[in-house]
Amino acid sequence: MKQTMLLKLAPTPEQAQALLETVHAFNAACDYVASQAFEAGVANKFELQKMTYGELRTTYHLPAQLAIRCISKASDVYKRDKSIQPTFRPEGAMVYDERVMSFKGLTTVSLLTLQGRVLVPFRMGGYQESRFESIKGQADLLYREGIFSLAVTLEVPTPEPQETTDTLGVDLGIINLATDSRGESFSGEAVEKNRIRHHVLRQRLQKHGTKSAKRHLKNLSGKEARFKRNTNHVISKCIVQKAKANGQAIAIEELRHIRQRTERTVRHSQRARHSSWTFGQLRFFLSYKAALAGVPLHTVDPRNTSRTCHICGYCARENHKSQASFVCCSCGYAGNADLNAALNISRAVVMQPIVASENRWNNHRFG
Ligand SMILES: [Zn+2]
Repeated sequence: MKQTMLLKLAPTPEQAQALLETVHAFNAACDYVASQAFEAGVANKFELQKMTYGELRTTYHLPAQLAIRCISKASDVYKRDKSIQPTFRPEGAMVYDERVMSFKGLTTVSLLTLQGRVLVPFRMGGYQESRFESIKGQADLLYREGIFSLAVTLEVPTPEPQETTDTLGVDLGIINLATDSRGESFSGEAVEKNRIRHHVLRQRLQKHGTKSAKRHLKNLSGKEARFKRNTNHVISKCIVQKAKANGQAIAIEELRHIRQRTERTVRHSQRARHSSWTFGQLRFFLSYKAALAGVPLHTVDPRNTSRTCHICGYCARENHKSQASFVCCSCGYAGNADLNAALNISRAVVMQPIVASENRWNNHRFG
């Protein structure tokens, strides 16, 4: 399984200058190649190389390998949509491969710049060190808020899924971001408070409309996204560890249906709250963390999970009284609606990991 690891670089001021110059030149050169590609309607890399290589070397001062990378990047983006001329941010990401980047042990990386190669120190945590061996030959050089980092790609071995006899059902929601079938809830309260605080600030800044207000706005949306992301990381990690410790598989609903279900039950006033939440991310984190931990992950048919009583199996829309509460019209069971759904999800599992069931489907279809 492929994963990305972010290494924070600690360049000297001279090195930072050289890196920044290189990033600027590289992206300006990408703009140039894209303009040539667009004008001539040429996407082929070899053709583009004939057309632009000389200019990239002389006007943009790119070393040979970076010129090739630049042509390749501009061509790839142009190919995606030939109806528009692609443009590149001056500080956009720059791809380094093994010809222009090499690691010198666990502390420095050699990067090619307009000034030649620079040996840039970086810091690595203990956890990162343990995974250093699996770094693949390519990385993105990123420059954000004055900091350089390398996003390196790792090839991480995934263990065989463990044998399980039981399933932890997980209901993804709005008020509670996740509720598992053992009754533990992961509240979205902190995230929601954060969102409201940012929302108020944002409205105030939008009224200003000045340049600094715009910059502030941009930072704000970055901060909010990072907070959400972190919350999703914490929740998914907690659920996966719990399932692993208990020898359980994990079951969640199929994503498309989660949106449908919540849209129906969400009041209008909660729309903003809902749309700004990212079920997709939490689901994605759950699935890759489960794979890394060897915990099987199942998706189940979500129809009726929220309106079926987990005690007697009676299914009716009237059972689901409100967002929070469930009262069975047949046996009288009353309880938390999310927990009832999580228990139904846990039971809906046919003991087949997702991958295996997809393979079976393919065989059935083609074989
Ligand atoms: Zn019942």
